[in-house]
Amino acid sequence: PRDASAPLPGQEADLEKALRPRALDDFIGQQKIKDNLRVFITAALQRGEALDHVILSGPPGLGKTTLAFIIAEEMGAEVKTTSGPALDKPASIAGLLTNLNEGDVLFIDEIHRLAPVVEEYLYSAMEDYAIDILIDSGPSARSVRIALPPFTLIGATTRKGLLTAPLRARFGVDFRYDYYDADLLRRIVLRSASLMDVEIEEDGAHEIARRSRGTPRIANKLLRRTRDFAEVETAAGPGDGRVTRAVADHALNALDVDEAGLDDMDARILLTLMEKHDGGPVGVSNIAVTVGEDSGTIEEVYEPYLIQEGFIARTPRGRVATRRAYEHFDIVPPLKQSD
Ligand code: ADP
Repeated sequence: PRDASAPLPGQEADLEKALRPRALDDFIGQQKIKDNLRVFITAALQRGEALDHVILSGPPGLGKTTLAFIIAEEMGAEVKTTSGPALDKPASIAGLLTNLNEGDVLFIDEIHRLAPVVEEYLYSAMEDYAIDILIDSGPSARSVRIALPPFTLIGATTRKGLLTAPLRARFGVDFRYDYYDADLLRRIVLRSASLMDVEIEEDGAHEIARRSRGTPRIANKLLRRTRDFAEVETAAGPGDGRVTRAVADHALNALDVDEAGLDDMDARILLTLMEKHDGGPVGVSNIAVTVGEDSGTIEEVYEPYLIQEGFIARTPRGRVATRRAYEHFDIVPPLKQSD
């Protein structure tokens, strides 16, 4: 199945864009990031300078792209967007950089996937607002320095551990996202419902929120699907469009959304830990091989949520499944010598 936290195709993507908050005040949660950002934006505006370069890191769907656009909006700047994999040649990054206007935001999604030759261009662009372009070849080859207007690079990454040290060092502002708790997600669901003109009860919003894996993108997606059920079919018969707790519960069960909001990969990681490794301790690389996912991705994208929610504990000898994990999957924990 598709990764529910991945960006969506077509119409759903348009709907998602329409739900994007456009001002810092409408961005729910991540209070520490917002508080700091307000100071940095105000200071930069007062000095009439471009905002320092910003790196946003954290799992998918937590609002990195959204915040990049909000920053530009608050700075009164234009955004140009691209992504690490799209920038495959030095010429493509040189083209983008030389087309920037003063104060513009250049947003690079998946910045951990930049080719090394492209990344090297960014060093002087970020540090000196200049790039060196090689013209001609052979004996007449020479490099020409081109000045760039002051700009702000905003990089987003799910895998901060993959950024090279020189690139990381060039970001003056470094924000790491936390998962959203159920209360914040409930507020996000209520806000989206009102934008979508969906009638929803607090309890209905809470039910969606607590099963959204701490992720606004998933919460919005589940709200759209729950609305479908609310309009067509509820446990008690045809729906009247109103999202109550019972309607949400019926819809989410019909969609096979886990009671605790865990997704497919979460379940595979936990079941591997419990069924193949006796509950651990076991190293991440071992789990990675069994579930067929890269161990860095498990560590930076999946594991944080499982640890936060108390399904996995980290020990010096590796990961262990907690009692909550056994209870959640209704598996009897093995008797250990220490028990
Ligand atoms: P990322 O770039 O981290 O993958 P996005 O910025 O695309 O995530 O966010 C996904 C969706 O979740 C957005 O369309 C937006 O509607 C919603 N969203 C994310 N963060 C917030 C927030 N703090 N408040 C309200 N909605 C949010």
